[in-house]
Amino acid sequence: MTGFSTPAILLRRIDLGDYDLIISFLTLLKGKISVVAKNAKKSRKRFSGLLDPFTALNLVCWIPRHGGMPILQEASMQAPFAGIRGDLVKTAYASYWAETIHGWLEEGRPQPGIYHLLHYALDALDQDMQAPEALSIIFQMRFASLTGFAPELKICGICGTFLDRMVGNHVIFDLAKGSIVCKGCSACESRYRLALSRGTVKQLAWIQEYDIEAAARIRFTKSSIREGLRAMESFVPYHLGRVPRSLKFLNDLRHW
Ligand SMILES: [Zn+2]
Repeated sequence: MTGFSTPAILLRRIDLGDYDLIISFLTLLKGKISVVAKNAKKSRKRFSGLLDPFTALNLVCWIPRHGGMPILQEASMQAPFAGIRGDLVKTAYASYWAETIHGWLEEGRPQPGIYHLLHYALDALDQDMQAPEALSIIFQMRFASLTGFAPELKICGICGTFLDRMVGNHVIFDLAKGSIVCKGCSACESRYRLALSRGTVKQLAWIQEYDIEAAARIRFTKSSIREGLRAMESFVPYHLGRVPRSLKFLNDLRHW
């Protein structure tokens, strides 16, 4: 019997029959994995208080000799992030991040950068280090960079004109191209385009460029929060190929 242990963050849990759970984790050492937690549903004692959404744990799992999903043997708490689960808005943002990661990543491919990003964002959300809206812009922007689909925000994706040489206060952001486009190149209408102010484009580019602690010190204005969220919550689902359920919930919550 072989096994492994790794730091992990709980992304999703689903029932497996009457007793067991299938739990998806983003782990530091093995990327996204799904494991079976036997008796976790039936016995409260088995993993008492450990298997809540977004908790950071240390896992010990074993791999069945004849294949199949790893079995969770032990879990110990690393960070509960309990302040998130007690707050509906924070829970909605964390759920969106978790669903984005779950939908995007392949199983079993280590991506330590994304693990550290999620851990950082959950910790900052839990500790009120920054407003959830600002954290979500930072999370999505960094996620896009780490997964290789970072948008081009400095030059027109069609003719190469620099942002500083573009005319007008607003710039078109083309979701399909994954870049800004200048006025001359944005003649045709597309529902995959939206207008952003220069200030927002520069702030988004800044998040891409500097380390996350520096990005977290950015002071967003109300309008750059609104525009930044609109841009990233259009861009990420476009590349994901669907609108995550948790994003629809987040939008309902905002209108409410
Ligand atoms: Zn152009």
